[in-house]
Amino acid sequence: MQVSVLGKSPSWQDAAGACSGYLVEQDGYRLLLDCGNGVFSKLREICDYVDVDAVLISHLHADHFLDLVPYSYALSYAPRQQPVPVAGWPGTDSPARPDLYVPHGGPQMFRRIVSCWGQGDLVDSAFALQEYGAQDELTLGPFEVRFCEVPHYTLTHAVQLSSHGSRFTYGADCSPNAELVRFAQDSDVLMIEATLPRPERNGVRGHLTPREAGEHGRDAGARRLVLTHYSDEMDPAWAQREAADAFGGPVEMAVEGEVYALQNAQQPS
Ligand SMILES: [Zn+2]
Ligand SMILES: [Zn+2]
Repeated sequence: MQVSVLGKSPSWQDAAGACSGYLVEQDGYRLLLDCGNGVFSKLREICDYVDVDAVLISHLHADHFLDLVPYSYALSYAPRQQPVPVAGWPGTDSPARPDLYVPHGGPQMFRRIVSCWGQGDLVDSAFALQEYGAQDELTLGPFEVRFCEVPHYTLTHAVQLSSHGSRFTYGADCSPNAELVRFAQDSDVLMIEATLPRPERNGVRGHLTPREAGEHGRDAGARRLVLTHYSDEMDPAWAQREAADAFGGPVEMAVEGEVYALQNAQQPS
């Protein structure tokens, strides 16, 4: 299993960066986990968007799904996606239509957004759109997919992908919680948010500090802990020290363009 970081920014992009997006690959199958603003162009730098088999959205915040809009335009209007020859491309009877898995309420939200400029079916017609719930277990190509609802400002799911004995857990966005610790037990890689330099001063909590991210990784027994969803306006060396101190071992900071390879247990190393 291979995980490429397309975007690790929080709800506003780093300079030249992108919001949440991770391309997870195994046996030629490509799964795009979250598709926040800026992710589509990062995806195009490393693979052809028509070759993505499925897109999975953890929750319905802009920084996790907004680039579904340009992605839908590409699938709808790119010359090679047309049924008749156009602009030097032969026509196709089978345009790419990746699967798109979203939390409950996703289809209605997308229709509401794109209806503002009169294209209500844009996302529905570009993707094979389906809703999932926290209790669902999906088999997507070589991946077994499980979900865990985590506390955030809206319905949000941590996502776990298992394949060939390797386990990758993505914590999505969350406040401190025991559910993620249980769900992420024995992950080979836990990709966890570390958005805040300090806990929210007031109101409902919705994110983690680097220290809290480290504590979650320690309690989950994660083999590798990677901090993500942090701004380039936060000192990464400080964040890494804070998290490592709580984790009790080295911690990595997600960097856009970085690729994490998970060892397949069934393959000799
Ligand atoms: Zn969020
Ligand atoms: Zn977010």
